[in-house]
Parts: sequence; C-alpha cells; structure tokens
Amino acid sequence: MSDLQTEVKTAKGLKTEPIAALRAKIRGDLIQPGDPQYDIARKVYNAMIDKHPALIVRPVDVADVSTAVEFGCDQGLNVAVRGGGHNGPGFGTVDGGLVIDLSRMRGIRVDPEAKTVRVEGGALWGDVDHATYPFGLAVPSGFLSTTGVGGLTLGGGIGYLARRYGLTIDNLLSVDMVLADGCFVTASQEQNEDLFWAVRGGGGNFGIVTSFLFRANPVSTVYGGPMIWPIEDTAEILSYWQDLILKAPEELNGWFAVLTVPPAAPFPEKYHLQKMCAVVWCYTGPLDKAEQVFKPIRAFRQPAIDFVGPIPFPALQSMFDAGFPAGLQWYWKADFFNRYDEHTIDLHVKYGKLLPTPQSTMHIYPINGAPSRVGKQDTAWGYRNANFAQVIVGVDPDPANNDRMIRWAKDYWQDCHPYSLGGGYVNMIMDEGQEGVKAAYGENYTRLSQIKGKYDPNNFFHVNQNILPKA
Ligand SMILES: Cc1cc2nc3c(=O)[nH]c(=O)nc-3n(C[C@H](O)[C@H](O)[C@H](O)COP(=O)(O)OP(=O)(O)OC[C@H]3O[C@@H](n4cnc5c(N)ncnc54)[C@H](O)[C@@H]3O)c2cc1C
Repeated sequence: MSDLQTEVKTAKGLKTEPIAALRAKIRGDLIQPGDPQYDIARKVYNAMIDKHPALIVRPVDVADVSTAVEFGCDQGLNVAVRGGGHNGPGFGTVDGGLVIDLSRMRGIRVDPEAKTVRVEGGALWGDVDHATYPFGLAVPSGFLSTTGVGGLTLGGGIGYLARRYGLTIDNLLSVDMVLADGCFVTASQEQNEDLFWAVRGGGGNFGIVTSFLFRANPVSTVYGGPMIWPIEDTAEILSYWQDLILKAPEELNGWFAVLTVPPAAPFPEKYHLQKMCAVVWCYTGPLDKAEQVFKPIRAFRQPAIDFVGPIPFPALQSMFDAGFPAGLQWYWKADFFNRYDEHTIDLHVKYGKLLPTPQSTMHIYPINGAPSRVGKQDTAWGYRNANFAQVIVGVDPDPANNDRMIRWAKDYWQDCHPYSLGGGYVNMIMDEGQEGVKAAYGENYTRLSQIKGKYDPNNFFHVNQNILPKA
C-alpha cells in the first residue's frame, strides 16, 4: 500500500472493525486501497479526475445501499454516489471518502403492455436500449449509450428523442430512493410529490435512486445519422438548421456540431482530420416519408459526407461511443440559448476553426418541442423556455494538451455567454461552483433548497452540483 493510501485511511480514522462489520453485512463488493482492483475501481470516465477514495462499496441491492449510507454517515465520511461515472467534474468519486458505486445494480424489466421500463440505479443507457428495442420501445436519453441512467436522468436528460417525447425526466413515472438517514422511499406524482419534483432535474442531491420507472415510447428503426459540411459553410448551415429546427415537426430532431473528422473508416480519407460542421439527425416519423423530409435539406447544401439513412435506434445511440471511450481528458462549458444571431454565429465560425484537439467539439441540442410544453415550475429543470442547450467540450487523450483546450473552451464560452439565457445544463457544467448551480436552476433554486432542507438537512449528499439546504 502506498504512503498516500495509508495517509487517506488514517486521516479519515477508518478502523478495521467497522469495515469488517460492513463487509459482513453487505452482499456486494467492498474495495480498499491496496486491493488488486482498487486502481481500476477508483477511476471515472473523465481521466482529468484522479481521486483516491478510502473505500468503494458496490451494492447489489437496496439493503446494501442503505447499509453503505448508514456506514458513511456513522463514520462521518464524504460520500460520492456513482451511476455510470460519466460526470464531467467527476462527482462519482471522492478523495479519502466513501464511493457508493451502483455499477452492479443494472437490472431492467420492460412491461410491453403498460409501456413502462423499470431500471436499476446503476444501469447505462445502452442497457436500457438493448432491453426496450425488441419491444419497439425507447426511453428518451442522450446521444451516447455509455452514459449512466442515474446522473443523466436526475439532471434532466437531453437526447435524440427530446423534441418528440420530452426530456428523460418528462418520461419518469417514479423513483425508489434511499435517503440520507438510510430510509427507503418511493417518490412519484402520488407519493412524496415534493421529492419527485426535486429529483426531476435536481441531480443526486436528495438521495440514492435505486430504481427508476420510465414511460417508454414507440421507437424502433429511425432515419438518422450525421451530415457533414466544410467548416467554411458553418455560418450558412447553422443559420439554415436553426430556422428549420425551430419550425420543424417534432418527429425531426438534429443537433448541430463543429468537429474534426476522425482519421478512420467509414469517413472518406480526404476528410480525415479536417475541421468541419455537422448536423446529426434523428427522424422518428414514418420511414416512407423520410426521403421526402430530407430532400430540401440535402438540396440546400449537398453534404460532403452523408451517413443519414434508416438505422435501428440503439445503433444511432451508440454510433459515437467508440469515438469517446473512457479515459480521455474532458472539460465542459455550457449555456442555454434561444436564438443565434449573426454575431453568435460568427463566434461559432471563429472557434470552430480553432478546435484545439481532434476530439474537441461544440454541440447545440434543440430542446424546443415537447420539453417546452412542460411548465417552468412543474419540475426542477430550469430552462423550459430555452430553444437550445449548447455545450463546448475540450477532449483529448493527452493531459499535456489540457491547458490549451481548457483555454479554448473558456474563451469560447466567455464570448458566447452574454448572449445566453444566463445558465447552463447542470449535467454539462464543470467547476462553476454555487454560482453555476444557481444559474442552472434559475428561479427553481429556492424551492430546491427548501426540499433539500427537508430530505437532506445536513447535506450528506454534497459530492454533486450542490444545492445548499435551507433550514
Ligand atoms: C461522453 C458524454 C456524453 C454525454 N451525453 C449526454 C447527452 O447526450 N445528454 C445528456 O443529457 N447528458 C449527457 N452527458 C452528461 C451526463 O448526463 C452527465 O455527465 C451525467 O452526470 C452522467 O451520469 P452518470 O450516472 O454516468 O454519472 P456519475 O458520474 O456516475 O454521476 C453523476 C452525478 O449523478 C449522481 N448519481 C448518479 N447515479 C445516481 C443515482 N442512481 N442516484 C443518485 N445520484 C446518482 C452522482 O452522485 C453524481 O453527482 C454526457 C456526458 C458524457 C461524458
């Protein structure tokens, strides 16, 4: 065992007896510094985060989760809860504290009659898509299949199906949770309504969700994929796409990006490592109408690369997984927007040409349509009035490039921010602290803080985009 690890344990005063008692009580895994799997188990998706927990518990059921929470509380430990571990700032781990890693709780049950899906708290979206696809169903999630259901859902959930079926939280019917005192509760429109309001956007602030119940929607083969144009076309494409998506039927979704073409098949070699702009489409309307829907888009400006066609929804969801494996350095900046005027479009042209590394990118996700039909105060999610969620992401395998890509992301964000609605999507902000959390929730922050005061008055769940409890 290294000196650092010994120090961590000593600093937290963790004695062997309570650890042995914990080990005897739980059915899941307990991993400590020095164990062979510790160095893998402590890692999260973002390699920029390098923390050394004193203990990692991997529960297999609600009883284990409750026991782990009580242990963390009794020992006075900082506790991090991990779903898929994808969070940018790395809230799925903590130095010197306890990690409750839900990765062994990935059970899923689809009810095709009721069109619902029950999903355990540590599942990934790829698990859900795999389970629902055979029934011709899908739950709105994100744009990658490796992201955790837990963190993505609790922060809101923006994805391919948002314009048609809403955010992920708009499809959430109930949650089973373990609270800070170890108690188990269910929250829904009928039970603990205040808690149910808060978890739909309020993140992991209120307890550990052991199981989610979602509504599933009829989705099977969609018409989608990326269309890519030269970076010089950014202004025209962004402006055309914006006008189109603001008026388009809700079955048409497409997010805008500036990116670098990966140097690999199936991308044509002449475009490898070229900076370009793109729209990644997902049309869920009748397939026999799809060609007609995309005819004017293709006619506006012939894409240099056009991979759009019929595709099973899980294949579209996982199309970019390989391009963004775990273990890269990540730095995010986010904001909501209503409209991109000439000036903000010019900023995207400028910073698109300056993409600092091949995997760095900027995405604009449309959230007009179904998400905006939910009232601003109906869930904790603060930006029902926004048309677009924007995220600027510096990504690279080499930590030596961090300064350069962080500088690019910060400058880009700084220049765009004055034209935004004032805050960013809570799942895509980074190290903005309280100011960023408050801006992410806007006027819903006060109620969130009151509900936090009721369910977690001592702020036990604070390794997150933290909502401070109001007495
Ligand atoms: C490559 C990549 C792609 C992404 N794409 C999208 C996207 O398309 N759409 C989108 O909306 N977001 C997207 N995100 C953002 C994503 O929603 C957040 O990073 C989210 O926090 C990830 O959830 P997780 O469970 O994987 O993360 P974790 O790091 O495990 O957890 C994140 C936070 O949620 C809490 N948490 C997780 N599970 C639970 C639970 N069961 N109970 C209580 N608290 C819990 C954690 O404590 C932590 O505070 C993406 C992120 C990455 C890295």
